[in-house]
Amino acid sequence: MSEPTLRALAPGKTNLGLFLGPTRADGLHELVTLIEPLSLADELTLEELPGGALSAAAPGLDDAACAGGADEVVCAGVEGPNLAATALERYRAASGWDGPPRRLTIVKRVPVAAGMGGGSGDAAAALRLAAHAAGRPGDPLIAQLAPRLGADVPSQVAPAPVLVHGAGEHVEPVLPPPAHWLLVLPSRERLSTPEVFREADRLGIGRTAQELLELRERLREGLLPELLVNDLEPAARSLCPAIAPALEAARAAGADHAFVSGSGPTVIGLFWGEQGERAARTGAERLRERFPGAVAARPVAPDFAAVGVVRDNGAAHEQ
Ligand code: ATP
Repeated sequence: MSEPTLRALAPGKTNLGLFLGPTRADGLHELVTLIEPLSLADELTLEELPGGALSAAAPGLDDAACAGGADEVVCAGVEGPNLAATALERYRAASGWDGPPRRLTIVKRVPVAAGMGGGSGDAAAALRLAAHAAGRPGDPLIAQLAPRLGADVPSQVAPAPVLVHGAGEHVEPVLPPPAHWLLVLPSRERLSTPEVFREADRLGIGRTAQELLELRERLREGLLPELLVNDLEPAARSLCPAIAPALEAARAAGADHAFVSGSGPTVIGLFWGEQGERAARTGAERLRERFPGAVAARPVAPDFAAVGVVRDNGAAHEQ
């Protein structure tokens, strides 16, 4: 009998406040940020690979597919090595799970290289799926593997509002901010996160360790409007001038706040209150022609990203 097909969503994230501190001895920047997972999510399906190891070993996989050990990852829209393939490979190696080869299919909805943590979210979801397939849902090994996959992966393991500090490795759950909706304006351009950090250094952006500590305490107490600041925004804007008109468009759509998501170039318009849904949706519809992929999104809780078994009719139910 074949193994059940599993499905999980990998929410994109935005940063509600991002404060940059000094560079550490390991070359990474200290930062403090509140990360929020969004309903704009990639969809991952893990199924037994038809033909097993034989087809996984077959040469000639196109750009969108790459073999991760015996497993295969198919992800249209992402060229080159896929972080989710690395996640699967590392989970197999660390856990000893030797179940039959799997195909992981990723439907990308989160814009790529856009400051929304899409690759990290996919890697975290791949770990959740692999642990589930191995019969160890919620395996503590996931938390050990996550930081080694990337600075943003630990915050995506159980997507929920979290306060992140260090270089991304310290993740603390926080109370969800007051109700709000978001207008997501993707860019036609991409930005590389390391380049944005380098540009921030070139521009001399960065706070002292003491300032960072104080901001961490303030964010822990709750999200106040004056904390909706992204220290990486000037660096992203300097590398991508198309961000400025997107910020203006979000403001003109009535957003209470407009900011760059993470390292950009995606722009977020935030609307407070449940009634923000209408304005965010209207804004997305009106702006979609100028900003393809413009969409309204809401914050989500961990059950949104839980692993489910795909029934015969294609619907998934949580385990
Ligand atoms: P960050 O997590 O630093 O905010 P980002 O959201 O700006 O990153 P991603 O969408 O994660 O950017 O993509 C960054 C790079 O990672 C891309 O250039 C892409 O080639 C590579 N990558 C590897 N795997 C994936 C994946 N599953 N989804 C998206 N990008 C991936």
